[in-house]
Amino acid sequence: MLNLILFGPPGSGKGTQAAILIEKYNLKHISTGDLLRSEVAAETELGLEAKKFMDKGDLVPDEVVIGMIGNKLDTEANKVNGFIFDGFPRTVAQAKALDSMLTEKGLSIDKVLSLHVGDEEIVKRLLQRAIDQGRPDDTKEVIQNRLNVYKSSTAVVADHYADQLKLADIQGEGSIEDIASRLAEQIDSISV
Ligand code: AMP
Repeated sequence: MLNLILFGPPGSGKGTQAAILIEKYNLKHISTGDLLRSEVAAETELGLEAKKFMDKGDLVPDEVVIGMIGNKLDTEANKVNGFIFDGFPRTVAQAKALDSMLTEKGLSIDKVLSLHVGDEEIVKRLLQRAIDQGRPDDTKEVIQNRLNVYKSSTAVVADHYADQLKLADIQGEGSIEDIASRLAEQIDSISV
């Protein structure tokens, strides 16, 4: 099993790069943002609750996302080569919960790939995505809040994995192909 976390602020290209990596390494993509958006679209109880937080760019409560990931791991763990987590964990509590859920299954995170992109470039990309995809949380005010939430609650998750010597910092600006090669280089260096 190869288990990776794609880490970085909103708009750092996690989703785009995950799509490339799942093909190359035959992994299962788990994006909590995507999972939550399907719950919202299906108007489930969880979705209706989560939407209140998502519309403002706030984090959905830990127990909700942790529960969702737990279900995914239970149903998928023995069917796949490994996972790419995208947009999760976003708090240290989520990271600790993920570590223990994986340990229970005899699994662990191999590497955390942290994409670094400047604030100005991020705002530019997210405003463009608003035009392309029409995501309701890609408005100027909500983008600002999501960046603040990243800095106040999520950035420290990198330290959690740096302590475990699993953090790799990657320059996240440039062409999609160049960034994909930088990520592949890091992945190919695992346990060789
Ligand atoms: P994303 O698509 O990853 O940018 O996520 C969109 C929104 O879903 C976020 O702004 C949060 O409101 C919510 N969300 C996604 N993943 C998480 C998570 N791991 N913890 C809490 N909230 C999340």
